[in-house]
Amino acid sequence: MLIMDNEKEIILDDSLSSPNYQMLLSLFAKPCFIANITRNEEKWFSLLNIPSRKAINFLISKQLIETATVEERIVKKYKLSELKTIVKTKGLKLAGKKEELAKRILEVSFDEMNSATAGMELYKCTCEGKEIAERYIQKRDNARLDASRLILSLLEKGEYSEAVSIGRSYYEPEMALIDTFTVQDISSDLYKVNVIMNETPGILANVEYTVIHRIRLAVVLSCFPPLAYFDTIPNDLVAGTNFDWDTAIRMLRFYIDNKMELLQYQAEGIRKVELLACNDSCIHCKKKNNKKYKISDVPELPNPNCTSPYGCRCIYLSVFDS
Ligand SMILES: [Zn+2]
Repeated sequence: MLIMDNEKEIILDDSLSSPNYQMLLSLFAKPCFIANITRNEEKWFSLLNIPSRKAINFLISKQLIETATVEERIVKKYKLSELKTIVKTKGLKLAGKKEELAKRILEVSFDEMNSATAGMELYKCTCEGKEIAERYIQKRDNARLDASRLILSLLEKGEYSEAVSIGRSYYEPEMALIDTFTVQDISSDLYKVNVIMNETPGILANVEYTVIHRIRLAVVLSCFPPLAYFDTIPNDLVAGTNFDWDTAIRMLRFYIDNKMELLQYQAEGIRKVELLACNDSCIHCKKKNNKKYKISDVPELPNPNCTSPYGCRCIYLSVFDS
């Protein structure tokens, strides 16, 4: 048994050079609950080959992570409104961010707050751990940027299928930890990219060519998580709309997502859909709320006439014929 344990120890020492262990460590670059990791146990186990708790204990034993401070525990545990209530009952100054309120409370009630947060398994990197974590994060971000740049240059050359295959092959182990991530088939990815690069939704009809082109590139990248759109998007309004860039990008994304959904409905033999608006949708969208349409002549989404600065958020809902 002892030999077994020693072997394990040696293997674990080696594993610090494994990206999956570095990824685990990087989650503690900011204070993180152990439960956030153990609740995805199956996925972590497949990445680490040992129970995640054991890997975390190993990081603790190597002094790469340590328990968070009382102040950090308070900031994690309480909402701003709750901290304000505590501050008020203690007769302290109300203004400030969570961190400032926590400091103020600790000055007068350290022991009380220490025991109120004692059971929390909140850990963070030590200085040494942070160095490794930050190197990992930097390396990952650089690789992500390289992949994004490569895809952008392929799109510019019209080489969509190469761009799609790079997007699909770019993989980060983090993705295995996101429940909603599903790989779609390659022909549907290629279809999507073709629509994004060539079709202009009515809601963006007045946007000039060079601007819509940038929006298209950003939307293609957003189809391959974690290649989120590049950092160079401005934060002003997009000329020809009353949207900021984020919203304009989202509108093209909605357009393709809604289109794919309609295709899916059609494949499933659904013949009618209902339009659904939000409580705070604009009057043009609300006019169509709960209206039913034959799937062959359903109005385009996002609604081209939408006047909301947040953009159209209407969705299609399948209707089952009785
Ligand atoms: Zn609207």
